[in-house]
Amino acid sequence: MRTYDISLTISPDLPVWPGDPEIVLERFSKMEEGDPCNVTKISASLHLGTHVDAPYHYLNSDAPTIEQLPLHLLTGRAYVLELPNEVDLITAAVLEHSEIPPRTRRLLFKTRNSAIWAQQKRQFQPDFVALSPDAAEYLAHHGIRLVGVDYLSVAPFHLPAPTHEILLKSGVVIIEGLDLSQVRQGRYTLYCLPLKIAGADGAPARAILIGV
Ligand SMILES: [Zn+2]
Repeated sequence: MRTYDISLTISPDLPVWPGDPEIVLERFSKMEEGDPCNVTKISASLHLGTHVDAPYHYLNSDAPTIEQLPLHLLTGRAYVLELPNEVDLITAAVLEHSEIPPRTRRLLFKTRNSAIWAQQKRQFQPDFVALSPDAAEYLAHHGIRLVGVDYLSVAPFHLPAPTHEILLKSGVVIIEGLDLSQVRQGRYTLYCLPLKIAGADGAPARAILIGV
C-alpha cells in the first residue's frame, strides 16, 4: 500500500490569501549562536497551506470551532475525483456528469489547481477552480460529509460566502489547500488531522492518503 502526502509544505514561499498575514518562521533560539537548542516561532493565519475550516469560520458564534470537529469524518474511505483541465468551476451540472461512486462520503477534487503546486507558484492565483453554491447543495444532498479541494478555498474567489455557508451548515467538513498532483482518481483511505486549537475558525492539518 502506498502512502501519499497530500499536504503542502509550510514555508514563507507558500501563497497566502490576499490580505492574510504572510507566513513567518523565525528561529529565535540558535545553536550556532550558543543557545542549547534550535527553536522556531511561527506567525501566520490559521488558514495556511493545507487546512481545515471550522463551521465557526463562516457561521455564527455558536457554531463548532476546530477542536470540536468529529475526527471520524476526517479519517476513513475517500474518493479522489479528477476533473478535466477545462473545468473552471465545479457546478452541480459538472457533478451530475461525474462518476462519483455510490455511498461516497468523503470526496476530494483533483483539478487543474494541483498543477499550481507542482509548479511551485508562489503568487496567489485568483482564478483557481472551486465549487459553486449549487455544487455545495448537490454534495450536501447526496450524503457527502467531507469535501477536499486543491487550492486555498472551497469557494470561488469572488463569491466566498455561499459555498462555505451551505457546506458548513450541512455539517460537511472542508479541507482546503490539498496537493493532489501525485494522486490519481480512485479510492483511498484519508487521514486528515487539524491541529487542536481552542476556539479556532480553522487549523493547518497534515493530510495523507493510503492506497486501498
Ligand atoms: Zn475556506
